[in-house]
Amino acid sequence: MKGLSLLPDLLVANVNELDEKFYKEYGIKAVVFDIDNTLVAHTEPQPPQNVLSYFEFLKSIGIKYAIVSNNSKDRVESFCKNLGVPYYYKALKPRKKYLKKVLADLDADAKSAALVGDQLFTDILGGNRMKMLSVLVTAVGEDETSFVSFKRKFEKRILQKNMHKLKEYKPQ
Ligand SMILES: [Mg+2]
Repeated sequence: MKGLSLLPDLLVANVNELDEKFYKEYGIKAVVFDIDNTLVAHTEPQPPQNVLSYFEFLKSIGIKYAIVSNNSKDRVESFCKNLGVPYYYKALKPRKKYLKKVLADLDADAKSAALVGDQLFTDILGGNRMKMLSVLVTAVGEDETSFVSFKRKFEKRILQKNMHKLKEYKPQ
């Protein structure tokens, strides 16, 4: 049952690996990103050039995108203010409320949308509950809090146990 699963539909080494072929192959027209340890380390206040270039790439191939983060207003606003795309902070993923809102903002269906994040209990579970394509990135940078480090131990165990079920996306 996908809706209750902590397992991602796909693993990817980092966001940049999600190339044009990925969007075509999986029929993805809109993508919702987590920020911390997904796009950047949690210590990076603003999107660096590689993230901005990736967003330009998405625009160039007609993929809509947005940000949904569980982090604070200050952190998320400082990161997103110049991006010109929808964003939500304190989103309480895996709750569906803000994921529903962001899909409405993007005028996207869940089945043609992906959620890209680094945590099973928030991002992946949230994406699966929404019936979006859930994509787990290998975390970027250090864990933001000791609670996150604590959760990662469980996440690792879950992923290791289910390695045979997991599928990795790699650009050719
Ligand atoms: Mg994160």
